[in-house]
Amino acid sequence: MLTDYTDQQARFDTAFAAMATCCSIKCDNCGRTYFVTSPGHGDYEDGELGKLRSRAAKEPERFIEVPDYSSVSFVHWAGKQLVIGCVCDPTKPTSDWIERYAEELTEYLRAYWQAKQVKARALKRKADECEAILAMAETKDDK
Ligand SMILES: [Zn+2]
Repeated sequence: MLTDYTDQQARFDTAFAAMATCCSIKCDNCGRTYFVTSPGHGDYEDGELGKLRSRAAKEPERFIEVPDYSSVSFVHWAGKQLVIGCVCDPTKPTSDWIERYAEELTEYLRAYWQAKQVKARALKRKADECEAILAMAETKDDK
């Protein structure tokens, strides 16, 4: 299925879903814990998955089994770990902020990458100088 980029949340999820993933993660916004159970996924310690399933049986609102995904995505924002797609919609304020300041963020990122380019060029010049010195030394050694 194609992502609907006219949808704000879809844009956010697409950009950040791969940033951090885990087989079991707690949403700091609401306290819910999501855990994957699809076959072959979930790098659990011995007995960990059993404990999660047993807690889910007792507290189905707080421990949520995710059988259809190989991992749960989350982002860190303002000191909190927020599960992407959590029912509490924890990334909405972040997404709203990004949308509101999209032009400013674009300008910020332009300056960020420009600074990176300046640093990369300086490193390239230094590497070229080192290479030239090394070539001269090798030429001297040959004589
Ligand atoms: Zn949540």
